[in-house]
Amino acid sequence: MNESHPAATVTLIPGDGIGPECIAAVRRVIAAAGAEITWEECEAGAAVFRKGDPTGVPRETIDSIQRNGVALKGPLETPVGYGERSANVTLRGVFELYGNIRPTRELPGVQAVFAGRQIDLVVVRENVEDLYAGIEHMQTPGVAQGLKLITRKGCEKIVRLAFEIARSEGRAKVTCSTKSNIMKLTEGLLKRTFEEIAAEYPDIRTEHLIIDNLAHQLVRWPEQYEVIVTTNLNGDIISDLTSGLTGGLGLAASANVGRDVAIFEAVHGSAPGIALRGVANPTALLLSAVMLLRHIGASAAADRIEHAIVVTLEEGRKLTPDLTLQEHAVTTDEYADEIIRNLGRQSPHWRIRERRPLSLAGVSARTPPLRVDRRRVVGVDVFIEAEAGAAELGAALERLTGAELRLKMISNRGTRVYPPFGRQPDCPDHWCCRFVLRAPQGEAHDGLIVDLLGRLSSAGIRWMHVEKLQDFDGVPAFSKAQGET
Ligand code: NAP
Repeated sequence: MNESHPAATVTLIPGDGIGPECIAAVRRVIAAAGAEITWEECEAGAAVFRKGDPTGVPRETIDSIQRNGVALKGPLETPVGYGERSANVTLRGVFELYGNIRPTRELPGVQAVFAGRQIDLVVVRENVEDLYAGIEHMQTPGVAQGLKLITRKGCEKIVRLAFEIARSEGRAKVTCSTKSNIMKLTEGLLKRTFEEIAAEYPDIRTEHLIIDNLAHQLVRWPEQYEVIVTTNLNGDIISDLTSGLTGGLGLAASANVGRDVAIFEAVHGSAPGIALRGVANPTALLLSAVMLLRHIGASAAADRIEHAIVVTLEEGRKLTPDLTLQEHAVTTDEYADEIIRNLGRQSPHWRIRERRPLSLAGVSARTPPLRVDRRRVVGVDVFIEAEAGAAELGAALERLTGAELRLKMISNRGTRVYPPFGRQPDCPDHWCCRFVLRAPQGEAHDGLIVDLLGRLSSAGIRWMHVEKLQDFDGVPAFSKAQGET
């Protein structure tokens, strides 16, 4: 049965491990459901790394995705010893796929701890910022540092996406979850942006939960959540947790969306242990393809496939080994055949969610950077490697401050150690030394900072990096150490 949706060309990346066998099954189901798709098959992943391309994604694949704007992707592996970056992370970065959408919904006939609780939620994970920027430096031979980058623009895009998903799916509540109680500037930026943008969606209830509490609530009362928006690392972990609530990786679908490109993929990886045995469950990839079909306007085919999956699982006559006892299990292909046979049927007990097309009009790539009226540098944090203790280092630095800057304090991994603050922690050789202006209304201009660094170097003190301490419109734009007054 054909439906009237614009014929689409879609980039198809079979991927590694169980990817090609799942993709083959999905293609057959989509064709049988009557969606008109021309597949443009492209390479990425292990084979590409082995050919010597350190990105794992060849130019032709990038061009194909750029041209078509939409891709269905099998899992990609980064083989040990090849490349430093994951091909998945590369694709997300190249196409600015800022939103990772992971729905979790109870499905009939699937054994899961929470079966019967009607879980039906979506995790909307920021997908390109946070610690996943992968900006890391060894500060000393024994101290590693990773940069957690969160932007106002990135927060605005992901928050708007979450609210628009709620609207398109007729959901009543959006939950924002962060670790803003500890990381007030980075995680706090998502919370503040969420609270601001929530005012534009008065029809939707909102709440904020600290991420560890969310993890606890999710394994107690998961049915209370509808849309959860969170930062990249939090979302990575929480969305695997939510996948587990309803039956595991064989069923968990996802979409990576940006302004002009969307890539749909299962949450699972290449599962090398079961690859080439014809036993992988293609449902996760098929449900991802259902999201793709809705994205390109082929909603009728999407609904037919989703109904057929529900009927197949509910009847449970032919299931892959991850869903049933081994002796009753069928192969990936036999399972796909059963879904194809069930196309056109609907369960009398399970409804699928009605959706309006997702609107991303409110998310502009041209949002200008935030500006402030008054900006003042009030000091500098200099990160120093030293084997000496806090008192010895403090005394040495006090002798090197000039007429304009004074040493306010030294902290070690975020806790003030000079002047001493209670019991000294077990300090590694990495110190944050905070210098501030002696005159409160002055400006710590670059010359002062360069002079200070010069004096430190001349005294044989090794510094690794420097952070200016700024005030934006009179508000300090930096965190305080534990115990800093
Ligand atoms: P995984 O491939 O997701 O597999 C973990 C386990 O989940 C498998 O061993 C298997 O369990 C089960 N499983 C996953 N998908 C299944 C399916 N469709 N049907 C039935 N069972 C399924 O995770 P991993 O072993 O950690 O990762 C393997 C490789 O995939 C790594 O190289 C990783 O980097 C990559 N990866 C890629 C992506 C992506 O491309 N988006 C995502 C995650 C991981 P049993 O062993 O119990 O059968």
